[in-house]
Amino acid sequence: MAINVTRSSMPSYEEYCEEIKDLWESRWLTNMGAKHQQLQAELENYLSVPQVALYTNGHLALENIIAALDFPKGSEVITTPFTFVSTTHAIARNGLVPVFCDVNERDYTMDVTKIEGLITEKTCAIVPVHVYGNICDVDTIQEIADRHGLKVIYDAAHAFGVKYRGAGIGSFGDASMFSFHATKVYHTIEGGCLCYGDELLVEKLSDIRNFGLHGQEECLYVGGNAKMNEFQAAMGICNLRHIDQEIAKRKAVVERYRARLENIPGIKLSVIQKDVQSNYAYFPVVFDGYKYSRDQVVALLKEKEILARKYFYPLTNAFSCYQALPSAGKEKTPIADYFAERVLTLPLYADLSLEDVDRICDIILQ
Ligand SMILES: *Cc1c(COP(=O)(O)O)cnc(C)c1O
Repeated sequence: MAINVTRSSMPSYEEYCEEIKDLWESRWLTNMGAKHQQLQAELENYLSVPQVALYTNGHLALENIIAALDFPKGSEVITTPFTFVSTTHAIARNGLVPVFCDVNERDYTMDVTKIEGLITEKTCAIVPVHVYGNICDVDTIQEIADRHGLKVIYDAAHAFGVKYRGAGIGSFGDASMFSFHATKVYHTIEGGCLCYGDELLVEKLSDIRNFGLHGQEECLYVGGNAKMNEFQAAMGICNLRHIDQEIAKRKAVVERYRARLENIPGIKLSVIQKDVQSNYAYFPVVFDGYKYSRDQVVALLKEKEILARKYFYPLTNAFSCYQALPSAGKEKTPIADYFAERVLTLPLYADLSLEDVDRICDIILQ
């Protein structure tokens, strides 16, 4: 049977229908209705963060927080190219300049020893990514930001539910964005949220999310439309009831992969981070000096209708739309380029059976 790289978790059909029933009574389908408000409160609690704002998708959440911070146009933002293109676009679409910092060899997050060398008088913020759910060195990044007066906005799209020393990962930096896309650990079909601490941003973010309107007769910002609707929120309420079991099932899958692929010469697995409660979002494997190259492994799996993903390849600084930037070009971020050429994320979802994990490993090890 074909195996995809991911498969969305869903509540039972009955549970979702029960949750959306109210909507036929209220006829309130979007614009911060009852479901939206309920999910927001439940997420503030689950993620252990002071404030959550819900969005129609994660990308717009990231665009909106960058917009709300009002950086002068043309300011520079230090970020990583080893990510989904959304991260880089959210910076560029705000009229800011992405400056690409390399990643480290342990966990593929931003190499904190290379950040300060990229800071100029135009730098306004750092946008790191908790890639694969591996968390960035949040302590060092905050120290650097404080020393230089920079904002820190995390792309935490992969990191829903992750904790560091017992604290919700969304509580670090000035803000964090989680994606609730159907392919993520937790989803609202499409969706996303921001976590942030500054109460002064509550109204502003809310206005920007709704066309910049402030009440019915005033418009303060050139905003867009990024509101999460009630059907999305209902899916989120249902999925949140089951999230801990979902993560536990992912853990069993990841442990089986590790048991089968650990200590194989030429296969490198991601480190297990200290003091981190993982969400087991992805299982990246690096092939370097193995009997098969990454691309050969992709082909071997594909023959058996198993789809693994070259995630992340290409790097965002290799895309043609960014070639005019002074920091662009993958040769400027050699470690990220090294991983982009060699990494593969293997199929991983809560309901992936251990027999299927074994089948995938057998093909790789054949
Ligand atoms: C999924 C993802 C996004 C975008 O989130 P959407 O909810 O799909 O808009 C941004 N950054 C990263 C790293 C992602 O994986």
